[in-house]
Amino acid sequence: MTAYAEMMDFQRETEALAQIAGRLGWDQETMMPRGAAGQRAEEIAALEGVLHARRTDPRLGDWLDKAVSLDAVGHANIRLIRRSYDRAVKIPSHLAAEIARVTSLAQGTWAQARADEDVAAFLPVLAQVVKLKREEARALAQGADAYDALLDDYEPGATSAQLAAMFGALRPGLVDLRAAVLAAPAPAPLSGTFDEAGQLALSQKLALAFGYDLNKGRIDKAVHPFSSGSGSDVRITTRTNPVDPFNCFYSTIHEVGHATYEQNIDAAYALTPLGSGVSMGVHESQSRIYENQLGRSRAFTGWLYGQMRDTFGDFGIADEEAFYRTVNHVANGYIRTEADEVQYNLHVMLRFDLEQALMRGDLAVGDLEAAWNDRFLADFGFAVDRPSHGVLQDVHWSVGLFGYFPTYTLGNVYAGCLHQALRAAIPDLDDDLARGDTGRARGWLRAHLQQHGSLYEPRQVIAQAAGMVPGEGPLLDYLEAKFRDLYSL
Ligand code: ZN
Repeated sequence: MTAYAEMMDFQRETEALAQIAGRLGWDQETMMPRGAAGQRAEEIAALEGVLHARRTDPRLGDWLDKAVSLDAVGHANIRLIRRSYDRAVKIPSHLAAEIARVTSLAQGTWAQARADEDVAAFLPVLAQVVKLKREEARALAQGADAYDALLDDYEPGATSAQLAAMFGALRPGLVDLRAAVLAAPAPAPLSGTFDEAGQLALSQKLALAFGYDLNKGRIDKAVHPFSSGSGSDVRITTRTNPVDPFNCFYSTIHEVGHATYEQNIDAAYALTPLGSGVSMGVHESQSRIYENQLGRSRAFTGWLYGQMRDTFGDFGIADEEAFYRTVNHVANGYIRTEADEVQYNLHVMLRFDLEQALMRGDLAVGDLEAAWNDRFLADFGFAVDRPSHGVLQDVHWSVGLFGYFPTYTLGNVYAGCLHQALRAAIPDLDDDLARGDTGRARGWLRAHLQQHGSLYEPRQVIAQAAGMVPGEGPLLDYLEAKFRDLYSL
């Protein structure tokens, strides 16, 4: 057996174990009894220890030195295993296990603190998480920038300087557009209640309309919608709110964007480093283009309006055009996940700056809430009224995801590039969308991007698919055109 073949056999088992670890996480959010939290933290830490030992196994170093491959797939596998190995050996195994254990517990503490509006109850465990992640960042960075070292986990090749420039280029356009939109008359809000059974039935119909394969996936309810898994087992969650069915529908479409990216990867890559999405930014570009550019388009919402009338009867919105305006209304709000397309990235910028300060040691955990509230007031013009609307709203920091937030905006930027290319390739796409048919759009994304999995580097696969150097221009153009039309500006 060649070194390459031996290494790939070993890797396949590691990938399988990593899928199991992911499924434990899925279970924790959907099915696990509350009282099992402590034991689950031990289970996850134990498995994380096994995974870390495998990712740093000295045999990997030997195989990597000897492995040769003549084709592009082999080169990509070697490159990705090398990258994972080089990163993993920098992190002491006790630190990896401790991060897994503490973050699993911190998630529960955060959820309780948020429910109780009690920041003080969360800060001690957050301080522990921050300390451990800074330790990890220092180990990874080896003298280089700590935040960039963490960012690289989610978006290989990206740097905070690059992302800061992107945010800087986005901000003025978004702020101007928001001011113009908020000064214009607001569309009719949705009113009344929408029963859960109807929401879940239509949610499933939307999942199928966007190509989700339920034979290799399932939909459950969770507090926070997410997608989990790769290959032939990719699961999503959604949630319902009696007065806000759009939350359910668009969460589902969003997660289906993530899930179908995984489902559409070339089956030959399953349980190899190529068999999952290439980065969080590219992943988010798929969820966002499904949710926003397609799902919130005038054509598609026209179809959705009919579906909602069929499911719920007359719900007080007069016609498709009024419905389109209601779906896309721009309003002040505290919550990132509920933010409209115009303001969403402003919420991300706030987190990006604060988490950089936390990781670089420029902001103490004890000062985080005040820093958040000051920044929110400056950016949004009104004050945070309670912690669950402010610093406690997102799960990310409790589970140690530092460097993750900016990938949301990167995803929006990539989605802007892909959407421009998609519309150029299929000029009459709206005819399909008006019938609830996303087939040609999905086919284009699958062929140009999704099937490749992690074969290419993140920016490379976007550049190839979109036929352009990725940048924020197309996203800004799209938002300007859409919202100036919507609000008659
Ligand atoms: Zn997402």
